[in-house]
Amino acid sequence: MSELVIDNLSVTVGDKQILNGFTLTVPAGEVHEVMGPNGSGKSTLAHALSARPGYRITGGSILLDGFELVNETASQRARRGLFLALQQPIEVPGVRLRDMLGASGAEIVDLDLRLENEAARVGLRHDLLERFINVDLSGGERKRAEIVQLALLRPKFAVLDEIDSGLDVDALREVSRRLQSATTEWDCGVLAITHFQRLLNELTPTAIHVMDQGRLVASGGPELARELEKSGYEPFRVTTK
Ligand code: ADP
Ligand code: MG
Repeated sequence: MSELVIDNLSVTVGDKQILNGFTLTVPAGEVHEVMGPNGSGKSTLAHALSARPGYRITGGSILLDGFELVNETASQRARRGLFLALQQPIEVPGVRLRDMLGASGAEIVDLDLRLENEAARVGLRHDLLERFINVDLSGGERKRAEIVQLALLRPKFAVLDEIDSGLDVDALREVSRRLQSATTEWDCGVLAITHFQRLLNELTPTAIHVMDQGRLVASGGPELARELEKSGYEPFRVTTK
C-alpha cells in the first residue's frame, strides 16, 4: 500500500528549531488536513518536504513508499511522486507550463489537449496557459495553475500549503473538487495545510490534524474541524516550549 510517512521530523531554519518531532502518515487516496494557528510551522513543514534550501532537517525521516527522501533533492523527490503547491507560487520567467511539463520527464500523452481540459476544470483562462509560469498572474490564478500542473503530473502525494488562500468561493469549489477527484482518479494522497475551515466545505478530509509549535497536538475525524470552529485553537495550544 502506497503511503507518505513523516516520522519524528525536526527542522531548523537559521538557528531556530521550528519543527519538533512532527509525525504523520498519509495513505494513498486519503485527504489529510493539517491546521494550526499562524506561526505553528505549517509552511515550514511544506518547505522541508520539498527540500527548500535553508530548511535543515536535523532529525526524523520522510518515507515515500519506503524510500527515504530526507537526503534527496527537490527534483528527485518530485520524480518519486511528491508534489508541492506553495503558499505563494513563484514566477518562472521564460518558462511556460507546457514547456516545464514537457521537460519534466513525465511523458504526458496529449499534453496540449489535457492542459486545456484541466484548465477548464479549474476555471483557469485558456490564454493564461501561454504566459510564463505565474508571471503577471493573480494569486487566485496561480493557485489554479498549480492544480493544473498537479493534474498533469499525477503525483502520488500532493502537499498543498494554503491552496485556499486567495481563492474566491467558486474557485475554491473547483479546486477542491479537482483535488477530490484526484484521490479516486489515480489514488492521489493529499496533505492539505490551511488555517481556515472553508476548504472543508468541498474537500472531504479523511482526518484532521492540529499543529502547534512544530508538532501535532491533536488528530481526529472531520468532527474535529467543527470543534475547532467553535473553540478556536486556544484549547489545543501547548504552553511549554
Ligand atoms: P505557519 O505557516 O504555520 O504560519 P511558518 O512555518 O511560516 O508557520 O513559521 C513557523 C515559525 O518559524 C514562525 O515563528 C516563523 O517566524 C518562523 N520562520 C519561518 N520561516 C523562517 C525563516 N526563513 N527564518 C526565520 N524564521 C522563520
Ligand atoms: Mg504558512
